[in-house]
Amino acid sequence: MIKLRKILDKAYEDINRLNLKKRCNQFSNLNGCCKWDYSLISSEEESEISDFLEKNIEIYEKVIENKKNESTCYFHDKINKKCLIEKVRPICCRYISYKIYEKEDCFKSCSPTNPCQKEKSTVISVSKEDVYVESEYIKYIILNNEKIYFIDDKSIPEYVEYKKNQNIKLSKVINK
Ligand code: SF4
Repeated sequence: MIKLRKILDKAYEDINRLNLKKRCNQFSNLNGCCKWDYSLISSEEESEISDFLEKNIEIYEKVIENKKNESTCYFHDKINKKCLIEKVRPICCRYISYKIYEKEDCFKSCSPTNPCQKEKSTVISVSKEDVYVESEYIKYIILNNEKIYFIDDKSIPEYVEYKKNQNIKLSKVINK
């Protein structure tokens, strides 16, 4: 996991350098990923988050309050617009808008031009022939004459391994 995070962090830094504009802050978007309950984590991440909550009682209490009152991710701090478990937030939350996913007949990614909007998906499909390789883990598309870079996590063997254990819903971390 530590090795995978290092690889993804390096890819994330490279993309921030290559892409001219920051597209998504990755951890405080209630219109986007923090709104829906589809994030999957590994048991290692689950333990990490549980340990963190055990050591940070104030945060734990906020999370429990959120859980009672909200339908969105209960780790989201609505007042400060940030993730309460930022340091230990799972991989699915860290890089999502930086990733491009290869499907059978196309690639999919978060739109680099449209920010998430309530109830409206901003995922775009790109034909396979319109996705180019920059380096080992990084691919790009061309939009309005601009290259937009993404992490292709399937080309990271450590990520492929991690995916095999990514089978717990983030929303099940707290079961009270
Ligand atoms: S854990 Fe944090 S970043 Fe991930 S969905 Fe919840 S609030 Fe958002």
